[in-house]
Amino acid sequence: MTSETTHDRPGSATLIDRFGRKITYVRISVTDRCDMRCVYCMAEDMTFLPRSQILTLEEIARLARVFTELGVTKIRITGGEPLRRNNVMWLFEQLGQLSKLRELVLTTNGSRLAALAAPLRDAGVARINISLDTLRPDRFKRITRFGDLSKTLAGIDAALAAGFRRLKLNTVVLRHMNHDEVRDLARFALTRGMDISYIEEMPLGVIGDHDRAAAYVSSDEILAMLAEAFELLPSTERTGGPSRYYRVRGYHGRVGLISPHSHNFCGDCNRVRVTAEGRLLLCLGQEFSTDLRHELRAHPQDDTHLRRAIVDAMEIKPHGHDFDLHERPVIFRHMNMTGG
Ligand code: SAM
Ligand code: SF4
Repeated sequence: MTSETTHDRPGSATLIDRFGRKITYVRISVTDRCDMRCVYCMAEDMTFLPRSQILTLEEIARLARVFTELGVTKIRITGGEPLRRNNVMWLFEQLGQLSKLRELVLTTNGSRLAALAAPLRDAGVARINISLDTLRPDRFKRITRFGDLSKTLAGIDAALAAGFRRLKLNTVVLRHMNHDEVRDLARFALTRGMDISYIEEMPLGVIGDHDRAAAYVSSDEILAMLAEAFELLPSTERTGGPSRYYRVRGYHGRVGLISPHSHNFCGDCNRVRVTAEGRLLLCLGQEFSTDLRHELRAHPQDDTHLRRAIVDAMEIKPHGHDFDLHERPVIFRHMNMTGG
C-alpha cells in the first residue's frame, strides 16, 4: 500500500490496515466547541482550542476530497457541535459536490437544526443522527447542562419536515439519569419513522460528574427493557457504523445498540477520525494518530504528502480499543475532540 503509484495517482488507492480492514468511512470533527456540556462528554469547565489550531473550512474540504480519492465513500461531519461552526453550510455545499462520495452524514445535538435542516438536505446530506437522551425538560438541562429541550425538539421536527432519507436518535443511557426512559424514547422515535441507537457510555476524558462504572447500563439490559414493550426482530442490517440493529414489529424505524463494552465491534472497523485540529485518529479508544494539519499547511498546493501521510497511517491503526470503566480514564481526550 505504500508504493509510489498508490500515493501519487488520485483515485487509484484504497486504504487497508494491517488487519486487512478496508477504511471507507471518515468522521470529521469540525469544531471542539459546543453550546451544550453533556455530562458524559465534557467537564463543566472546558478549555477549547485556539482558533488558529483548528482546521479552516477550506482545509477540511481539501482533506475530504483527498480521502475520497483514497477510496473513502462515507463522511460524517461531527464535533463538538458542528452546526455551531461559522459558515459550516459552505463546507456541506463543497462536500455535497464530491463526485466519489456516496454518503454525506451528520451528527448534531439538534439545537440549530430548525434553521438548517432544509439547507442541509439541499446541500446533499443524506442522513442525520440527532442526540437526545431524555424527553423531560428538567432532565435535559441536568444532562446537557446548557441545553434547551424545546430547541432540539424543534430541530427534529424540521428535519422530519425536510424529508431526510433516514433520521436517527442517539441516546447515551445512564443509570439513575435516563435509563427509565429507554422505552419512551423508542416510542418517540418509532412513531415518527425514525431509528434510535442506544450507546454505552465510553470512558473518554475526565468528566467529574458521575461514576461511569456505576452509571453503566449494558445493551443487554436495554434490550430487555425494550422487549417488554416492543416485538424486536434481530436484523443483519448495518449502516457502516458500529450499531447492531433490530427491526420492530409494526414500525418502519429500527432500534440499534452501540455496545463498546458488552459487544466489541472493533473486528470489522471500517473508519478513522479527524480531530478538529487535524489529527488523524486511527481508533477512538487509542491515541495512535498522525498530524495532517502539518501536511495541509506545509504543502498547500501539493496533495502528495497529505496522501502519503494518510496511507502510511494505516500501518498504525490498532486492532481495537481497550476501554475499562473501572480504571481511571486512559484516554484524556474528551468526546468533543472526535465526535461520536
Ligand atoms: N454535538 C453533537 C451531538 O451531540 O450529537 C456531535 C458530537 S457528540 C460528541 C457525538 C455523539 O457522541 C453524541 O451522540 C453523544 O451522545 C456521543 N457521546 C459523547 N460522549 C460520549 C461518551 N463518553 N460515551 C458515549 N457516547 C458519547
Ligand atoms: Fe456537545 Fe455533543 Fe458533547 Fe453534548 S455530546 S457536549 S452536544 S459535543
